[in-house]
Amino acid sequence: MSKKYDFRIGIDLGGTKTEIAALAPDGRLLERRRVPTPALYEDSVAGMAEMVRGLEHGLGGRGSVGIGIPGVISPATGLVKNANSIALNGHPFDRDIGAAMGRDVRVENDANCFALSEAADGAGAGRGTVFGVILGTGVGGGIVVDGKVVRGRHSIGGEWGHIPLPWPTADEIPGRQCWCGHRNCLELHVSGPALAMDCDGPDARDASSIPARAAAGEARAQAALARHGDRLARGFALIIDLLDPDVIVLGGGLSNMDHLYTDLPRQIAPHVFSDFVNTPIVKNMHGDSSGVRGAAWLWPAPAG
Ligand SMILES: [Zn+2]
Repeated sequence: MSKKYDFRIGIDLGGTKTEIAALAPDGRLLERRRVPTPALYEDSVAGMAEMVRGLEHGLGGRGSVGIGIPGVISPATGLVKNANSIALNGHPFDRDIGAAMGRDVRVENDANCFALSEAADGAGAGRGTVFGVILGTGVGGGIVVDGKVVRGRHSIGGEWGHIPLPWPTADEIPGRQCWCGHRNCLELHVSGPALAMDCDGPDARDASSIPARAAAGEARAQAALARHGDRLARGFALIIDLLDPDVIVLGGGLSNMDHLYTDLPRQIAPHVFSDFVNTPIVKNMHGDSSGVRGAAWLWPAPAG
């Protein structure tokens, strides 16, 4: 077999920044760059093609390209759907970017890329079924079984952020309208901005100070974290009842909240239909790099 590619390139296309990385056949990071994401779709496509050219020129070779996006390519239309933060919706992104880069490009949901990266050689390595969760500005999820992404019939496999908050209490319903068109979605309760708003009011968006404030004894912060943890636990209990993953790996900004790893297992158990529950809840291993690493992993390693 002729050697088509020398390395694997992964791109993580985010709402505010675009990251690109090249992985050696053994998974080693060869290079990584980060630039602001252009506002216009056409600029974004052209910019990524330019980044790939620059990377390949610098490394002296050609790479396979995988891209993680906040959304998915609809199997029905071939167009991007469910992207909340950038101007991708309605575009045939995989075809446009493939044409711009002169090769087949694999495009996958960013949470699926995260789950794939952590399942391949991260916090979920060696586990059969991995549920990867992004808890950040938005909430996403991805399922990897035996090393393969479970994309699903509608390309929404693992998208747990937009199912309704399970086992709601009286004061949690009917809940707010979500940008996705549904009401009372989990994302409206467990994302970073949701935690900030619950603690500090409707104008708050940044939850990063809340754990330290709770530890310092602030009752409002403690109560908000308790509500947040309980809601997250109910969301995970639903996943365990349905999928029963071997591990749940957390990513995104809120994955830095250490109390989640000690408190969640205890909070999840009462909701699960099982005599015992010991699903490991673990922090990601690759941090911010999981997006680009998982995108690169969409292609097999080039033959040596
Ligand atoms: Zn929603």
